[in-house]
Amino acid sequence: MIHLILFGPPGSGKGTQAKKLVKKYGLLQISTGDLFRYELGNNTPLGIKARSYMDKGELVPDEVTIDMLKNKVNSSPGYAGYIFDGFPRNILQAEALDNFLCEKDQEVTALIELTVTDDEIVQRILKRGETSGRADDLDEGIIRNRIEVYNKETAPVAAFYDKQAKSHKIEGIGTIDEIFEKLCGKIDQVIA
Ligand code: AMP
Repeated sequence: MIHLILFGPPGSGKGTQAKKLVKKYGLLQISTGDLFRYELGNNTPLGIKARSYMDKGELVPDEVTIDMLKNKVNSSPGYAGYIFDGFPRNILQAEALDNFLCEKDQEVTALIELTVTDDEIVQRILKRGETSGRADDLDEGIIRNRIEVYNKETAPVAAFYDKQAKSHKIEGIGTIDEIFEKLCGKIDQVIA
């Protein structure tokens, strides 16, 4: 099976690209952000808990996030593999993912990072906020905090997979189709 981590800061285009990749490779996109927003929309206890963190641009605690991720994988058989979008967000989550896949005799195939500058991210997210309906996309302070959390807690995950020789980078600048072409080129290389 193919297990890709689509990696990069908020607003780097992970979600957009993941939606195109699932069609081409027969994978399931698992976005922890989308899963939280679904819970939030249904006012579940998990959604209510997650909201207080999401509204500040902080990470939701690991235990609930990891459990939610495992449940999603376990309840979604029949795919050629998964695209993890927005997970893992720190080293502990990366270790949990590795152990979880290992129990299934599986492993992460590759982490592919979309690189984008901080200023470009802020512009993109503010623009997305005009239509996304996401409270965390509307306030520049919250966006900057999400970038800070990314740099501090999430960026080390790329180095973690680099030690396993699984980390790759693609410049996340250009049209959606140009970036998609570059991504597919990289994926075809790693799964060959
Ligand atoms: P995203 O849609 O990936 O930008 O995520 C939106 C928000 O959901 C983040 O700012 C976090 O509050 C929360 N979130 C999403 N994924 C994770 C994760 N893997 N670990 C902790 N919090 C997460």
